[in-house]
Amino acid sequence: MNDLQIANSVTPLPIQQIAAKIGISSDQLDFYGKYKAKLPLDLIDEQKLKQSKLILVTAITPTPAGEGKTTVTIGLNDGLNRIGKASLAVIREPSLGPVFGIKGGAAGGGWSQVIPMEDINLHFTGDFHAIEKANNLLSALIDNNIQSKSRNLGIDPRTVLWKRAMDMNDRALRATIVGLGGKNGGMPRETGFNITAASEVMAILCMSKNLEDLKARFAKIYIGDRFDGMPVFASELNAHGAMATLMKEAIKPNLVQTLGQNPAIIHGGPFANIAQGTNSILATKMGLSLGDYVVTEAGFGSDLGAEKFFNIKSRAAGLSPRAVVIVATIRALKYHGGKPLKELTSEDLSALGKGLPNLQRHVDSIRSFGVPVVVAVNVFSSDTDAEKKLLLNYCQTQGIPAALSEGWAKGGEGCMNLADLVVKAADDCKQDFKPTYDLEDEVTEKIRKVAQTIYGADGVEYSTVAKSQLKKIEKLGMSKLPICMAKTQKSLSDNEKLIGRPMGFTITIREFEIAAGAGFLIPIAGEILRMPGLPEVPSAETVDIDENGVISGLF
Ligand code: ADP
Ligand code: MG
Repeated sequence: MNDLQIANSVTPLPIQQIAAKIGISSDQLDFYGKYKAKLPLDLIDEQKLKQSKLILVTAITPTPAGEGKTTVTIGLNDGLNRIGKASLAVIREPSLGPVFGIKGGAAGGGWSQVIPMEDINLHFTGDFHAIEKANNLLSALIDNNIQSKSRNLGIDPRTVLWKRAMDMNDRALRATIVGLGGKNGGMPRETGFNITAASEVMAILCMSKNLEDLKARFAKIYIGDRFDGMPVFASELNAHGAMATLMKEAIKPNLVQTLGQNPAIIHGGPFANIAQGTNSILATKMGLSLGDYVVTEAGFGSDLGAEKFFNIKSRAAGLSPRAVVIVATIRALKYHGGKPLKELTSEDLSALGKGLPNLQRHVDSIRSFGVPVVVAVNVFSSDTDAEKKLLLNYCQTQGIPAALSEGWAKGGEGCMNLADLVVKAADDCKQDFKPTYDLEDEVTEKIRKVAQTIYGADGVEYSTVAKSQLKKIEKLGMSKLPICMAKTQKSLSDNEKLIGRPMGFTITIREFEIAAGAGFLIPIAGEILRMPGLPEVPSAETVDIDENGVISGLF
């Protein structure tokens, strides 16, 4: 059975029964059909959430072979429930870009999925639409102001950084010209689209503490400059009130269930290469308020998602993960050890051994935060006993707790050993979480510390453009913000060809972006796209619906 068939083979419980398991009554829910509901923000309990244990799932450096963080997150959550812990999975909402592109959905896999899988992967509860509308409202207000005679702020159209957004992989919109059609069609200017998951509105939603904070962050969005060189913010266009109004439902976390009929919260979905890569702070706090454990995921490898989870999200929200699960697969480690993609299903102990330094680097990075690590070996059917033994032996000799994770094949039952290890690690956690850098550090110092401590780089270089932008950041008084590194996910370095555990490299910062509303600076290493394209054979071509409304081709 494929993922969709497995998801549809289980009859979901009505969502009020899932809510009842975590002490929420029907009248507290905003229903979106039978199996989805929004949770009111007043269910967040700042006292209770401090007692609960946050478990972060991250991974080794991603490869085309796949790692399975979401699958492990959901399986581990069901495993924790099976061993008697009140646990919730808290994850991101999928973007349609990957769904119709190359990767497919993001609702887990096999017997570790959240359901209703089709809804979650498609329009879900409309949060992405609301984000897109809030984003595009600001765009419309900017172009309207540039057009205005009486209320013109003097925005220099060539400096406008704010782009429109759409949740689709569509490279043709990456760079566009708007304002054509003569005098009544606006002022022609070059601009473009970001995919919604890479938009600042998405990043802001996921950083916000409440509606008030969301609005205040919208007000702070840095749009571009006037002809006199002064910065312009969204508040000057009176945009923030209407933008926040459009988000009044989208700000509430969504409740669904896992295949094991345990509660899962899904909310917000910023990409991890260009944005912070984890679900909303509100959803994490909601989960911690409603259960004793929360299992959550940060995108891509620990160098991206987990680094930002600690240095940006945890610091801003006062969260402190009690344990980190690093997902590793034997296939991906063999790939890091130099084995070609097509041959990954055959046993190769030598390639596996050569790939281990990548895992070790991720373990060391997480330990630098002072948080205990557990390795989850996400088992694929092609893994051999000798390979599993080699990997587990390695972890044992290095003093890294590790367990096989068989949630894909067996659901929560396949993750009970992992759950035991995670509970033990979380209990033993000394809770002396320390971030990689201080907010007071110079911007270049923050970047240096991340590059050296997390990527294992020798140092950092800056382009001429980046150097002048550093001066501008200083002038705007924004150098105390945390940094949200934009880098390829395919390598610990900024060169995607360097797999495994690269050594002796430097990182080059090409330019900076300022996400003043989200509250971070984005140093960009290499070419990172905010609007991806579709692959040669998009997965959209296999998605179909029959006359009875039965969907196929989602995975
Ligand atoms: P990530 O969150 O790391 O991007 P996912 O959990 O979304 O990864 O998994 C990516 C894909 O790999 C999904 O289609 C999932 O069904 C598949 N997958 C994950 N784990 C396994 C496994 N153990 N065996 C087979 N397929 C798997
Ligand atoms: Mg995922």
